[in-house]
Amino acid sequence: MTPTSGAPRPPFARWLGTTNDITRTFLSAGRIPGLINMAGGLPEAATYPVAALAAIAREVVEAHPHDVLGYGPIEGLPELRDALARRFATPALALTRANVLVTTGGMQGLDLIGKALLDEGDLIAGQFPTYLGALDAWRPRAPRFRPMPLGKAGFDAVTALDGAKFAYTVPNFSNPTGRMVGLETRRALAEAAHRTGTWLVEDDPYGRLLYDGEPLPRVIELSAQARLGEPYDGPVVYMGTLSKEIAPGLRIGWVIAAPAMIEALTMAKQGSDMCTSGLTQRIALAALEAGLIEQIQPLVLDTYRARRDALCAAMDAHLRDWLDWEVPVGGMFVWATARDRALSTDLLLPHAMSAGVCVSPSSVFDAAGQDRSAIRINFTLNDPQRLQEGVRRLARAFETMQARRG
Ligand code: PMP
Repeated sequence: MTPTSGAPRPPFARWLGTTNDITRTFLSAGRIPGLINMAGGLPEAATYPVAALAAIAREVVEAHPHDVLGYGPIEGLPELRDALARRFATPALALTRANVLVTTGGMQGLDLIGKALLDEGDLIAGQFPTYLGALDAWRPRAPRFRPMPLGKAGFDAVTALDGAKFAYTVPNFSNPTGRMVGLETRRALAEAAHRTGTWLVEDDPYGRLLYDGEPLPRVIELSAQARLGEPYDGPVVYMGTLSKEIAPGLRIGWVIAAPAMIEALTMAKQGSDMCTSGLTQRIALAALEAGLIEQIQPLVLDTYRARRDALCAAMDAHLRDWLDWEVPVGGMFVWATARDRALSTDLLLPHAMSAGVCVSPSSVFDAAGQDRSAIRINFTLNDPQRLQEGVRRLARAFETMQARRG
């Protein structure tokens, strides 16, 4: 081999030095033989409606070759935008096509928000701990983060939002904590967004994954009630995705917001991917029209509820000495806090990997990377037997870590 020559290449952008590649690790962990992956937020593949989607795919390619194979409008297929407007409208929340942008997965909505709103140093008030994909999406724009502890008593939404370019919340079974933001706090957030003039990003990929009890109104609905009947023009930017409702490989998400915000996000999308795949948009539209989400919902909920219960029972049996947690009413995760405050969950990770299990440490859900108090455990990807084995391995990891600490 000839040695490479020439001047040294320019360095990569500074933000790359401030991030971590844990999501990449989760997404490839499934390929490590024997490893039980309880880290990522991945669905159970057996819930994907394979036959129905295969039939729909064939049908839409034949019936709509131009939409499917050509470029489409940046905002998304008009028929899909209309269908989403109808799906999310309520008596209080009037929506038209101008309120809807189709995105390439929910992740793109987060990315576009960063592009459309953030200049360097701008402040984000983020529900703490924060979805790490959101942190990943915004880090290149070098924002400041103000942690918003939504679970705390005496939470003051106006103070939390004041001065922020936008606030970020995952009110349904938050990633990572699995907690549901209560009605009073939802009302307070909606009200504070109006009063402070701050945009409020309501990220809701898990809303339909509710295992016990009743759903709560969306923050965007609560924020709409002041302007009954007129198309929504308020400060809430609502985001959803088909990733947890049908299948993540479709990469179909949406943003519902004031028309001016949809315009700005469309400009940002123009420089990102020009348009979301026409094939999967057409599949999504046909799936919505056929009621596919509603058809698979009982299987999805039964499967995940049983897995949540199996995980929590195994944790009760093996991890009570080490961890405290609440049983989540929905979503994909149990958030478990170390009982020993001196213990670092970052240090647990290599022991867990050696024991053949992986979970997410709390540091990756903290913009400052400093929270080492907890772990996030996924229960949707593995069946109850594997979850039990994963918990046993995790208990072993705690024991070896303790033994090493002396
Ligand atoms: N927001 C949150 C809170 C999530 O947990 C996820 C997926 N893990 C997303 C957005 C993005 O979902 P997707 O891009 O798969 O639609």
